[in-house]
Amino acid sequence: MDTTIETMTLEEYKAKQKEYKRKYYLKNKEKIQAKNKAYYKKNNEVIKEWRVKNKQKRDENNVIYRELHKQKIALKSKEPYYCDCGSISTYSSKYAHFKSKKHIDFIKKKKN
Ligand SMILES: [Zn+2]
Repeated sequence: MDTTIETMTLEEYKAKQKEYKRKYYLKNKEKIQAKNKAYYKKNNEVIKEWRVKNKQKRDENNVIYRELHKQKIALKSKEPYYCDCGSISTYSSKYAHFKSKKHIDFIKKKKN
């Protein structure tokens, strides 16, 4: 049975839209990327200015976010992180682990 726009649920509709956008992006990837690049090039100064202007606000938001989610972040950082290389570390030490010999060796092997 074919689902038409009248019979599908909102979730189905959203999924379909998402899929359509993804396909469109894949098909027009180069065109879209070139367009974005041109846009950034053209508006480079404006974007830079905007970033500087909003930096303080962003920093403030980050502080607020961290304050609000302190417990959640603390819990998350203690959660085990299962790495592809077979190691188990925690979320807080994830980046330190990425620099470890075992992990780097694993990445090297994977590439070969
Ligand atoms: Zn690893």
